Amino acid sequence: MDRVRAFIDGRLLHREGARFPLVGPRTGAQVGEVDEASAAEVDAAVDAARRALGSSSRPGPWRRISRAERLRLLRAVADAIDARRDEFIALEVRDTGKPLAFASAVDIPRAAANFRAFADALAGDHDDLFRQATDNGRGALHLTDRAPVGVVGVICPWNLPLLLLTWKVAPALACGNTVVVKPSEETPSTATLLGEVMASVGVPAGVYNVVHGFGPGSAGAHLVAHGDVAAITFTGESSTGRAIAAAAAPTLKRLSFELGGKNAAVVFADADLDAAVAGTLRSAFSNCGQICLCTERVYVARPLFSAFVERLAAGARALRVGDPLLPDTEMGPLISAAHRDKVLRYYALAAETGAKVVAGGGAQEVASPLVGGFYVQPTVWTGLPDDARCNREEIFGPVCHVAPFDDEDEAVARVNDSDYGLAAALWTRDVSRAHRVSAALDVGLTWVNTWYLRDLRTPFGGMKASGIGREGGRYGLDFYSELKTVTLQL
Ligand code: NAD
Repeated sequence: MDRVRAFIDGRLLHREGARFPLVGPRTGAQVGEVDEASAAEVDAAVDAARRALGSSSRPGPWRRISRAERLRLLRAVADAIDARRDEFIALEVRDTGKPLAFASAVDIPRAAANFRAFADALAGDHDDLFRQATDNGRGALHLTDRAPVGVVGVICPWNLPLLLLTWKVAPALACGNTVVVKPSEETPSTATLLGEVMASVGVPAGVYNVVHGFGPGSAGAHLVAHGDVAAITFTGESSTGRAIAAAAAPTLKRLSFELGGKNAAVVFADADLDAAVAGTLRSAFSNCGQICLCTERVYVARPLFSAFVERLAAGARALRVGDPLLPDTEMGPLISAAHRDKVLRYYALAAETGAKVVAGGGAQEVASPLVGGFYVQPTVWTGLPDDARCNREEIFGPVCHVAPFDDEDEAVARVNDSDYGLAAALWTRDVSRAHRVSAALDVGLTWVNTWYLRDLRTPFGGMKASGIGREGGRYGLDFYSELKTVTLQL
């Protein structure tokens, strides 16, 4: 059975002691054991990261490396991920249960791309110089300088484990910081493998460290409370974000939060119906609905409503749900028994509170050897009011509710009537409408006639309970930098 270890100061930490079982969602069987980091082991990881960085006056090995060499190392990490792609894919599929095809096309290539994107972003970044006329006639020069923040704590969820982890680690390292990563307890393996990759390409010991464990009372909470951790970058539930903000307050850390969503799609009467149905099938059911950007609310112009619902439901019923290891599987299991039970509770709640279940609505039957896995049916509802719990709370499963609307202002108001503000998808052929509506939406990301089309140079993040700050391209660099100003009187 595989043993997933911490990676501290450039090597795997071999020790006995506390550990917890790793369960594979495909069959529900235990597939490994994970070392749960003690507070002392978190201290050791932070200490290794602190020593690798050193201080401005006594630089450690990572701070002594030139920016060009740092960026060369990041590109080497990307190449090494590509070279060991099959190992990464196998571990990600084992831990998450996501279809092989999805991990191969999305998770692992994006992890490599993240390192290249932030190497590019930093290569294109330059210090600013401002000339100023002064009253004494001599003038002044003001120079900006980007310095690392320090040791960055990286706390990640289980839905896109390596993709989201590298989306934070790459800019942190590009900006010259060192990191201690706490991956999700459900999906720890690829973070540790990334440690081996870092060492293999010559990233100095202590620059990238991994500790495993849970949140409260475990590795996550120790990392957040640690006095030598200067920043926490976190992706996960909004409620966890609140707990982390409170726990980080005594040590005044900088915080970046990518949190939950309850994303809407709007299908206007002039939409290409085929594209809107196909796009919504992707946006509602990709990764079993376990992407923060997934659509859970769909508003459809009344003239298209019946046709849209019929075709979306037929598409949902036709999805190939089952073994993630088969190449043509489109939807695998949910992440865990607990999450499956939560999603099924929402399925029951929707039915109890008057939803019409037009597709799915329950657990998915599967054959041996998958019977212990956490499979549910792709589900489509209609008929619930906007204030129903199923329309307000993030479910994070393969489900969406479809409702009709009559005019544009109404659609905008209903999309915005949410505690969350992460993403929206608009389906329309009217360019003016696309601009008007996207400007009126309280979300960080609006897709028009597409979904999840990403350019890593663009800002990424949400409003309201969906997050604080923006990641991506040059927009993410300031979080990972202390920007200094030096003024010279000439
Ligand atoms: P979660 O909040 O339960 O856990 C995320 C991480 O935080 C895990 O590593 C967990 O161990 C750790 N953690 C939990 N409590 C903690 C505490 N008190 N202190 C420190 N660490 C703690 O989230 P999850 O269930 O793993 O992920 C699903 C959630 O993530 C959904 O809400 C989803 O919308 C969100 N998400 C958001 C984005 C985005 O970019 N906005 C992307 C992916 C996922």
